[in-house]
Amino acid sequence: MKIVIIGNGIAGQTIAEEIRKHNSDFEIFVISKEPYHYYTRIFLPSYIIGEKSLEKLILHSDEWYKNRNITVKLNKQIDQIDRVNKKIHIREDDTWFNYDKLVIAAGSNARKLPFGNSDVNGVFTLRNIANADEIRKYIKDNNVKDVLIMGGGLLGIELGFHLRELQLNIAICEIAPYLLPRQLDRGTSKLLQKYLESKNLEILCDVAVEKILGNENEKVSGVKLKNGMERKFDMILQQMGIIPEISLVHKSDIKTEKGIIVNEYLQTNDPDIYAVGDCVQFKGNIWGIIPASREQAILAAQHILELNPEPYKGTFWNTRLKIAGIKLTCLGTPEEDEKKETTLIESVNEEKYLCRKVRIENNEIKSAILLGPGKDNFFLKNLGKKVDLDEVKRKVNE
Ligand SMILES: Cc1cc2nc3c(=O)[nH]c(=O)nc-3n(C[C@H](O)[C@H](O)[C@H](O)COP(=O)(O)OP(=O)(O)OC[C@H]3O[C@@H](n4cnc5c(N)ncnc54)[C@H](O)[C@@H]3O)c2cc1C
Repeated sequence: MKIVIIGNGIAGQTIAEEIRKHNSDFEIFVISKEPYHYYTRIFLPSYIIGEKSLEKLILHSDEWYKNRNITVKLNKQIDQIDRVNKKIHIREDDTWFNYDKLVIAAGSNARKLPFGNSDVNGVFTLRNIANADEIRKYIKDNNVKDVLIMGGGLLGIELGFHLRELQLNIAICEIAPYLLPRQLDRGTSKLLQKYLESKNLEILCDVAVEKILGNENEKVSGVKLKNGMERKFDMILQQMGIIPEISLVHKSDIKTEKGIIVNEYLQTNDPDIYAVGDCVQFKGNIWGIIPASREQAILAAQHILELNPEPYKGTFWNTRLKIAGIKLTCLGTPEEDEKKETTLIESVNEEKYLCRKVRIENNEIKSAILLGPGKDNFFLKNLGKKVDLDEVKRKVNE
């Protein structure tokens, strides 16, 4: 059996590893348009500021793949899938490559919007090593001092924190009334904001950009906000969410909406073609987080190997962040649970930027927000499971 995987991010890497763990006979090919072996995108902000080298970023050598009999083809973009003849087209070589089972693990792209000015220099998104190199070079070559990060999500905050290390003035602007609206409730978010401000990050919530300012082919000079105010910035980083990469399936009749539609075994409408990771849409959801990519890839691998895995039910939202000495774990969807009939067990100390809030429904942990020091393993392990409430109270106050 010949298994071909498109994409060598966490989803592609995991499925290759998982299949090889259980089977030494199948041929495994991983094809990626990037020039590097698998690396974790989490460390890209550290790479920009020079804290992590390229060598440290890339996790495995040529030898590692050779020893596991996994063939990796780098710098190759797949631009067509021929389902009838079970082959894919490699753009660079203008050749077709056949498969028995195909896995699409093509990930996603960062959303980038022109804001009325698409031709100005100094506006970036961060998704891969090439973007990180561009950002680093622009900061160095242009004497950048004031940076606007558009998007107060996980990535915007992480990036802002790291760039402070380069002595840049950082403003993070978020259109929602508070930071991390998907992961946090308003109260915890405001506490996080206070903490970030104490670390000299400027946080602008409920603020929308109307126009990016600067002349065509010249450097960005700032932004005009929807409230009419103008602000000067030397660089803009847009971290405003992701768009699943689905362009490669367009001519193939593989069903897509926002992402590639998959069933509970991660199969597309063609049973020999699977899709996993950021490019996937399952029951209307797109996750865009590492735990979902890993869970989907392991399950799809087991299905290919005919190991009868349990059907996929979706991944619990699970976000863990460690920035400048503060730890934040968000499990489930606290904001939605706040509106439901749930029991809240909490411990808050604003002076110490400490907040532990757990929501329980029918004795099950539905969601948790854990900001500040303290262990999160108990909640992570028991998310969605029946628990003893006294034990939860003890752990919340630990
Ligand atoms: C800076 C940053 C920080 C992050 N931090 C976190 C975090 O702390 N926690 C968390 O859970 N998630 C985090 N994420 C999100 C996480 O990285 C993604 O969820 C994860 O990378 C998705 O993995 P994937 O394998 O599906 O896709 P990707 O990692 O996007 O990999 C897909 C690969 O496929 C290649 N490809 C695409 N199309 C083709 C084609 N047609 N032909 C060949 N190759 C192709 C791409 O070039 C890419 O290399 C972060 C993301 C970024 C950018």
